[in-house]
Amino acid sequence: MIALPLSVEAAAAAAALGVRDWVIQLAYLAASALFILGLRSLTKPADARLGMQQAAAGMLFAVIGTLLDANIVTYQWILVGLVLGTALGYPMAMKIEMTSMPQFIAFSHAFGALAATLVGIVEYRHLGGAMPTGVAAALSFEVLFGALTVTGSLMAFGKLQELITGRPITFQGQNAVNFLMMAVAVVCFVMVVVNPANTAAFYTMVALAFLLGVTMVLPIGGGDMPVVVSLLNSYAGLAASATGFAIGNNVLIIAGALEGAGGFILSILMSKAMNRSFANVLFGAFGSAPTASSGAKGPAKESKTISTEDAAMQVAYAGSVVIVPGYGMAVAQAQHTCRELHELIQKKGGDVKYAIHPVAGRMPGHLNVILSEAGIDYGALLTDVDDANRVLQTADVAIIIGANDIVNPDAEEDKASPLYGMPIFRPWTAKTVFVIKRGKGTGFSGVENPLFFRDNTLMLYGDAKGVLGNLIKEIKALDEGH
Ligand code: NDP
Repeated sequence: MIALPLSVEAAAAAAALGVRDWVIQLAYLAASALFILGLRSLTKPADARLGMQQAAAGMLFAVIGTLLDANIVTYQWILVGLVLGTALGYPMAMKIEMTSMPQFIAFSHAFGALAATLVGIVEYRHLGGAMPTGVAAALSFEVLFGALTVTGSLMAFGKLQELITGRPITFQGQNAVNFLMMAVAVVCFVMVVVNPANTAAFYTMVALAFLLGVTMVLPIGGGDMPVVVSLLNSYAGLAASATGFAIGNNVLIIAGALEGAGGFILSILMSKAMNRSFANVLFGAFGSAPTASSGAKGPAKESKTISTEDAAMQVAYAGSVVIVPGYGMAVAQAQHTCRELHELIQKKGGDVKYAIHPVAGRMPGHLNVILSEAGIDYGALLTDVDDANRVLQTADVAIIIGANDIVNPDAEEDKASPLYGMPIFRPWTAKTVFVIKRGKGTGFSGVENPLFFRDNTLMLYGDAKGVLGNLIKEIKALDEGH
């Protein structure tokens, strides 16, 4: 073959294209490295903020790299999307309450997955039937997981936001119907891979995936939504990765794979921390019916209450205090008042630690985030259940703030309890236990908690923020000699 000499302009254009390609690939490399660094930093609470900044910088590199792509025909619509996305996303992210974070994440996953699905459909129409088998497989995978994630995430959002009932919605043969739909979708997938021109199979697969997102999330209880959101996060990642293969974009392949693996591992860890199998979370309709030990055990027992004045005396003179925060503290937004109490006890010479359970609250790290938002030092957090239980054994006072399931002794003592086997804190090993909650409400599992009836447990009924505020007032009044 004879190499034809290039004209000067053509050679310059080719060189410019080569340089541009280099810059793009370098930007993608930087983005991928920053995503990995960000994930690494997120494994430690002290570096979590840095991790988010690293990941955000990575995303900036990815966006810049993509904007340099020579295949972009016009920037007009990209600009419209950028302005619209910023106008909607920025105020949403700034205004959102920490307790609403799970539904916010679900909502944003729906958008990410919709983008992947639309890119998949457009690319399929663009290439027509003349695409290699590998591309047909990547595109089919992308739209299958993308579409399922769109409706699944919207359902999760609806349940968490209480727009639809949080209770599992079940019907006879539900799992069988879901498996059948999944099987038909997989058959369509194979048909498209074998013959990419089979548009009927392609669109049937897309429609089934949209439907499956609804029917698979319907029977899962609202409380299990964080596990579902994390799993859908993993699906969105896989869809993004497949998009990367389909359109030849390296950063999408890497970022999607990281998200896919991260979401999947997180879902498994969350299920484990609740002592539930992954299959039980997804297909068990947990919370649909009261269980054997849901409270009706023997004659009604009475818990002992204490006045804030008397509780303040004990807290003020305690040498060591362990605070066990739970979902109720997040609901009450009591973290700042909690820090005030913490500082007051410290000023009086007491030591304060926090026992943070891996599934306290409604999302992984929920309580860590809330406490760090209030400026509580990471050094005061005991995030290992065994370590916390050792410290509790020598504590003068344990203060349970809006926590319930994570301190339920039935998890160790009652084999019939749905909580049985879940690692829990043992606050009853401290000299005195104060429990702050509004009333007789159960926790997420819906079962009674025998801790509230133990000899050394004293109840302080009321909203967490209000009760903590009153405790602070009473302790200060002690100092003033009232
Ligand atoms: P729980 O949901 O078990 O208990 C919370 C308690 O807080 C309730 O008993 C409620 O009682 C009380 N409460 C609610 N609002 C207030 C308020 N304003 N002031 C004071 N108390 C209040 O929470 P835990 O954190 O102990 O346990 C988390 C549960 O969530 C576990 O069962 C876990 O498995 C589950 N879960 C966690 C996930 C995660 O990723 N973190 C994911 C999925 C599930 P009352 O109404 O009487 O006030």
